[in-house]
Amino acid sequence: MLKGSSPLIFERSTAGRFAYSLPTLEVEKKELSSVVDDKFIRKTKAELPEIAELDLMRHYTELSNRNHGVDTGFYPLGSCTMKYNPKINERVARIPGFAMSHPLQNDSQIQGSLEIVYDMQEHLKEITGMDEISLQPAAGAQGEWTALLMIKAFHDSNGDTERTEVIVPDSAHGTNPASAVVAGLDVVTVRSNDKGQVDIDHLKEVVGDKTCAIMLTNPNTLGIFEEEIIEIRDIVHGAGGKLYYDGANLNAIMSKVRPGDMGFDAVHLNLHKTFTGPHGGGGPGSGPIGVKSDLAPFLPSPLIVKDGDNYKVEHDVPQSVGRVKAHFGNFGIFLRAYTYIRTMGPDGLKAVSDYAVLNANYMMRRLEGTYHVPYPQHCKHEFVLSASAQKKRGARTLDIAKRLLDFGYHPPTVYFPTNVEECMMIEPTETEAKETLDGFIDTLIQIDKEIDENLDVVLEAPHTTVIGRLDETQAARNPVLRFSLEDIKEEK
Ligand SMILES: *Cc1c(COP(=O)(O)O)cnc(C)c1O
Repeated sequence: MLKGSSPLIFERSTAGRFAYSLPTLEVEKKELSSVVDDKFIRKTKAELPEIAELDLMRHYTELSNRNHGVDTGFYPLGSCTMKYNPKINERVARIPGFAMSHPLQNDSQIQGSLEIVYDMQEHLKEITGMDEISLQPAAGAQGEWTALLMIKAFHDSNGDTERTEVIVPDSAHGTNPASAVVAGLDVVTVRSNDKGQVDIDHLKEVVGDKTCAIMLTNPNTLGIFEEEIIEIRDIVHGAGGKLYYDGANLNAIMSKVRPGDMGFDAVHLNLHKTFTGPHGGGGPGSGPIGVKSDLAPFLPSPLIVKDGDNYKVEHDVPQSVGRVKAHFGNFGIFLRAYTYIRTMGPDGLKAVSDYAVLNANYMMRRLEGTYHVPYPQHCKHEFVLSASAQKKRGARTLDIAKRLLDFGYHPPTVYFPTNVEECMMIEPTETEAKETLDGFIDTLIQIDKEIDENLDVVLEAPHTTVIGRLDETQAARNPVLRFSLEDIKEEK
């Protein structure tokens, strides 16, 4: 058992205890071997923990209390959009007609579910300014990869088979270059200028006959709007490439400006970020893609289409890049996002962007006297600080992030984007009250004072968590992810 941590369920096990009671059998008991092939019958008993119901309950409740979630505290994790997940979404996702349906049911039996998928596609067309949508990809990164395959297939179908390069800015989210590589394409980096935007002169150098696409997010990962987007579009289109919009985070631009109108040819959205799907702990997510009509023939199959008054699953998509996810994608997340879009409406979504941007600027301005702001112009939904000055006084960004844990905050994203030294990327989102923002800001200012007054308390943080600092190298190189029943038995 780790010092200070709670026992494993196996360590709590005592032979003979149980947490269930079953009614006595009313049917004749049969030998297992008379109904199941012998090769499927285990020869030794499964080593399951034996525990009473109350202790079981306490065990899991205790574990759940150790989680930090957006329902328990502020979570300013830049680029992740940890906004509140409205609870009405959960109610809709649990409506039995949706929750109990099966994707392999006949189209005629799931018309309601198909209508949701179809109507969601229509809403996302409106929000992105794209011509066609597929809800299939299960995450942002899978959406990126799928759309890149489509763009490559588009070029290939024009006999333009040498377009193998994807241009990615140095501030890009890590999934962008990764998706390009997984799609079999080569990554070419374009530099950012001193305003944190794509360096146009460098772009002109790297673009050419081999350009498949450029991947951008606008506002970019520094929280800055690419003011030269129209020129970027003309340069890339002029060279025959396509523009891909990383729309994981649409929090700054909803109902204000659309990727389709900025000249982008393809986009993905993260329903689990902008559109309030819960996403702590890794999912399930949803990364729909949208494309302009010239890319539409390559969408993943099947498509969900309207046929007269009915909705239909169309498998006949001859130029499709193929299926990328089982069934229709993560339908439970569509329901949550759909509920959000319908409850907010266009004006509500616009207000989301207004408040997301206001909150980020408020925090940036209150913190700029204490922490260095490398790009001092107004930001969009998130902003970047640098603790380079704090580092000279003895505490790095990592130390500050760990110290925040003692005050009950989830730290911001740290050391990303990689083009800013000792970086902290803060995204407050629109759902936080001013008091919460002030509390976090005051804490960051207090930690800055502690660096001079009591450096050790910062360097040794966190003090209040079950586990302090991990040996990061060991944790990455030799992660111990399993326990051994034998060890527990020996301890007992
Ligand atoms: C989160 C994020 C992604 C990746 O999305 P996943 O659903 O985690 O795969 C891509 N780009 C940006 C800008 C993001 O913030």
